Amino acid sequence: MANQPKKLLSVAEAEAIVRKSGAGRKIEAVPLLEALGRVIAEDVVAPEPSPRFTNSAMDGFAVRWEDVQYAEAARPAVLTIIGESQAGAPFDGIIETGKAARINTGGMLPEGADTVVPIEDVEIQSNSVRILAAKKREQNVRFGGEEFEKGESVLKKASVMGPAHLGLLSSLGISSINVYIRPRVALVVTGAELISFPDPVKPWQIRDSNRVMLSALVMQAGGFVVFSERVGDDLEETCKVLQSAVEKAEIIVFSGGVSVGPHDLVKPAAQKLGFKTLFWGVSQRPGRPLFFARREDALLFGLPGNPVSAIMCFLYYVQPTIRHQFGLAETRRSVTGKMAESVRNPIRRSQFFRVFVDGAGGDVPLVYPLARQASHMLTSVTDANGFIFLDIDARLSEGDEVEVNLFPWVEL
Ligand code: AMP
Ligand code: MG
Repeated sequence: MANQPKKLLSVAEAEAIVRKSGAGRKIEAVPLLEALGRVIAEDVVAPEPSPRFTNSAMDGFAVRWEDVQYAEAARPAVLTIIGESQAGAPFDGIIETGKAARINTGGMLPEGADTVVPIEDVEIQSNSVRILAAKKREQNVRFGGEEFEKGESVLKKASVMGPAHLGLLSSLGISSINVYIRPRVALVVTGAELISFPDPVKPWQIRDSNRVMLSALVMQAGGFVVFSERVGDDLEETCKVLQSAVEKAEIIVFSGGVSVGPHDLVKPAAQKLGFKTLFWGVSQRPGRPLFFARREDALLFGLPGNPVSAIMCFLYYVQPTIRHQFGLAETRRSVTGKMAESVRNPIRRSQFFRVFVDGAGGDVPLVYPLARQASHMLTSVTDANGFIFLDIDARLSEGDEVEVNLFPWVEL
């Protein structure tokens, strides 16, 4: 490949290549608590019915309906108490005519009984009970299998596991579940000029913002940072870290070193290690020199080092890849608003234009384009809450409807 991208891909072309390349998903079995917030990779079929056995919904007495059907306060039915069915300690006798057993919520309904009279509707005498009211046959009984039978599907593949889902699995005796993996991401920040806090900084050096920012983005997208390293602009060092990245991660994210200078070594290192270039150069601002390559299952995103380029390319290309591998449907969070001012795209590239959406007040949010859009100014992201996509030649007038992609950390 020449040392300058010849023809830039359009954003849509680049996006399609990324989507196609990141399509595979891996699955792992995890214990229930580790499945919180994860996406299941299979339907769950009930291995047993729910409830597993017929039991009481109230504290009271297990009785036969024909013994109590006419009971009322003036003419109570009097039954002999022959035992107790506690939750966890069933009564193993049979309720015959004229008999009753104490029963607790969750206690197994004894044989012969078909109805539970709540404690509020009885008077207890030493070993008999006066039933003062009974509304209907089978009242206060939870029947085995009434929620679902063994073999019924209870959770659908691709569902996100919340606490109730985990409780349901646990109630079925399931202790681990197949989920899509949390993709492992290796981060490499390049640049001989970079310094990390708390190292002293010389006037010509630049403090690294991308390592922490990209780590946070990976975590927020559902990925797992297996390592994050900083390397100088050195081919051997870059190859070494790339080799260890490819051994440990599904997704490798480089920051910096993908432009056209002699010290931009990510592409040469990737080529040396047998990565296939899928594209280099996209007609977009920020992030023109975005580089994308793969070796077998490992995907490599070479993000330009300017912090705004890095974050916008991450949000547009890397985040959907991580979310997909995590098992989530591809959805960009967006709102429709109205331009508060006109804006046009004067350059021959598409733009990810940062805006502030003001949702307060009227029903349609107003969208304010930020004046500062330079790719070294992170305040153009922190002052914004989303971005609009401006195609080549785009012109938006005040009042025009526009779709705003919200940043993932923003609540509107
Ligand atoms: P590069 O993509 O390596 O050509 O870097 C482009 C610009 O982004 C240069 O001004 C770099 O100093 C700056 N830059 C690169 N990496 C980082 C980083 N991790 N944090 C802050 N600025 C960076
Ligand atoms: Mg650099």
